[in-house]
Amino acid sequence: MLFGRKNRKPITIPSKEVKEWKYTTCNYCSTGCSIEIGLSEDKKIVTTRGHAGADVNRGKLCIKGLLEHELFESPGRGTEPLSREKHFEKLEKTTWDNALNTTANKIKEIQEKYGKDAFAVISTGQLVTEEFYTLGKLTRGCIGTNNYDGNTTLCMASAVSGYKRTFGLDGPPGCYEDFEHTHCLMAFGSNLPEQHPIIYWRLKEALEKRKFPLIVVDPRVTMFAQFADIHLPITPGTDCVLINAMMFVIINEGLQDQAYIDASTQGFDEVKALVQDYDPKTAQHICGIDEDTIRNVARIYAKAPSAMSIWTMGINQSTHGSDGVANINNLNLITGNIGIPGGTSLSITGQCNAMGTREWSSCSGLPGYRYLENEDERQEIADFWGIDVDFLPKKRGLAQTDIFPVIETGEIKGLWLVATNPMTSMPNTARIRKMLEKLEFLVVQDVYEDVETNQYSHVYFPASVWAEKQGCHTNTERRVNLIDNVLPPYANSKPDFWIFNQMAKRFENSKTMNFPDEPEGAFNEMKELSKGTHNGRPRTLDISGMSYEKIIRARGIQWPYREDESREEESREADDQTPASASLKGAQRLYSDGVFPTKSGKANLIPVKFYNNNEQPCGEYPFWLNSGRVVEHFHTRTRTGKIGNCNKFSPTAYMEMNPDAAADLGITHQSYVRLTSRRGDAVVLVQLTQRVPRNMVFVPFHYHDCVNRLTLGLLDPHSRQPAFKQCSVRIEHVDQAEAAKLNVERRSY
Ligand code: SF4
Repeated sequence: MLFGRKNRKPITIPSKEVKEWKYTTCNYCSTGCSIEIGLSEDKKIVTTRGHAGADVNRGKLCIKGLLEHELFESPGRGTEPLSREKHFEKLEKTTWDNALNTTANKIKEIQEKYGKDAFAVISTGQLVTEEFYTLGKLTRGCIGTNNYDGNTTLCMASAVSGYKRTFGLDGPPGCYEDFEHTHCLMAFGSNLPEQHPIIYWRLKEALEKRKFPLIVVDPRVTMFAQFADIHLPITPGTDCVLINAMMFVIINEGLQDQAYIDASTQGFDEVKALVQDYDPKTAQHICGIDEDTIRNVARIYAKAPSAMSIWTMGINQSTHGSDGVANINNLNLITGNIGIPGGTSLSITGQCNAMGTREWSSCSGLPGYRYLENEDERQEIADFWGIDVDFLPKKRGLAQTDIFPVIETGEIKGLWLVATNPMTSMPNTARIRKMLEKLEFLVVQDVYEDVETNQYSHVYFPASVWAEKQGCHTNTERRVNLIDNVLPPYANSKPDFWIFNQMAKRFENSKTMNFPDEPEGAFNEMKELSKGTHNGRPRTLDISGMSYEKIIRARGIQWPYREDESREEESREADDQTPASASLKGAQRLYSDGVFPTKSGKANLIPVKFYNNNEQPCGEYPFWLNSGRVVEHFHTRTRTGKIGNCNKFSPTAYMEMNPDAAADLGITHQSYVRLTSRRGDAVVLVQLTQRVPRNMVFVPFHYHDCVNRLTLGLLDPHSRQPAFKQCSVRIEHVDQAEAAKLNVERRSY
């Protein structure tokens, strides 16, 4: 975001002498780039570079990864535990013992007074997997609340829900290498070059070697849409209509893969019947894509020898996100595009370890994709952890987005937030503020003590960041990679793993449970739990063949990677002298045999009916409000907002607006305006661009007191994910001097 500046300073990466390179993995997005951290003679971190031998990024990094070494000593880092009686008092320094004791006592007090579930825990996609597993063990096995969830409900819950409904289990079935085999790629609501730059680079490299059609579905002319062969500027929230209309064409023209449908799916007749209501002639008036284009795209997709779909928040953050995912899966199943090279349904994950929390955190179930609702799985975990099975709830508790309203009604009195910042990330922040104020006890655990949510805490735990800790991430293509411990914790911060272990010691059940002292001990427990069968077939999420040493050697291994495969590869290495890293391969694709982890072994085709239930532009609020990520920032800017070379591109909240719409309202480029919705208002700087249509504005979601003051956030009924991208606003003139003053005040870093 440039705002017409002409004399910008170039990015400078000072060249300092590196004595030693240390292996790790990027801690921002889910691409999962392997990074080497350069240490100087005196063990100071001086730079980062992409690992040339890593299959994911092949030596490349995006701007965030290139500058990631700067975050260790960035402003606002928490140095000491803090506490106070009331949230409006000053936070005072305390000891770790005091902070942990106060928190444990408050949790027990609230639970005794109001019931176990009156204390809630909300985590993140930013920790390492061993920490997620340990937090799950602590929350489910010791604290015993069922109101435990992750902020991944804001980004990936719809993908999880859609995968579970279709395939019987979570887990993206494809991989990045599918770009090298596919004959058609269709991207839904994904601005890959900005959101996942290195995945985009992999796609571009594949396209340079072998051209295939690239179709991008997005209401905005994103960077990705500008590179597409066909851009479908869809009406917000109508992707189900487009896909149903495509399936109408495919089925009525006999282009479906009937042999695959018969052998590997169930529910085809219901889908076939439903899509008859979505003739492209009718559908075009709802989804905004003309009839001929719908037919053309449907034929290209179905006739391609292999075709793949990718998607991100444009699908997930919707009132029918889970249905949208199920419908993308439908499209791929009826065309036989699951589990084959270049044929897949690949959700591009958000946070660096959103996959790790899905797999092992026990947020929505139990570790290793086990279900609380399954009696045998409850028993298995209770035995493994050494607790009474009755301590585990028999069904999932509230999702993150349902926990906050229950704070409002007074049923939840205490909350522990781990590396998440709802004061910026949740829709309708004015309401969130009131809810946080209402809590009897809030503990905030974060790398940064200036994280906005900390304004309401009673206790603050300063956490260590990234390579100050050790543990694994799983990326978008199910690749488990390692963050190695390169630096000691900053000041008196502590690794999240240590904090969870210390907290566990303060609860009765920990006397019979084992909490390993080191992350590798937790990893070994996860390996053990990943073995065995599910619905009579080997577990898909099997990591039993992995070890930290092998992961580093291979620069990441995809699951499933079983113990027996690992042994075979080791003996092959010994026989033919194959380099170790080349032979350490997990499974690139799931479901290649056409068998799925449902009871019948068949994938579910799910009819998806369109309901128009979003807030729509109207006379009073005439513009669609769209939001999303920009390349130089990550989430709520707790980190990137303080790294100068990242922050300089977009230091201030802004909005993209169509020049014709601006002319109608007398609004000029680089002026300030007020955006107002039915929830609140926000002042932003205007950037005029044809990227957005005349009836839409786009605002990046990273800024505090900005776009989420406006969003409505209606929830998906299956995933409970909020519809961040479909609501309406109006635009008003503001006093420019006042707005500029406000803007400067907000840019405190
Ligand atoms: S693409 Fe993602 S994982 Fe790779 S360097 Fe950038 S932020 Fe990190």
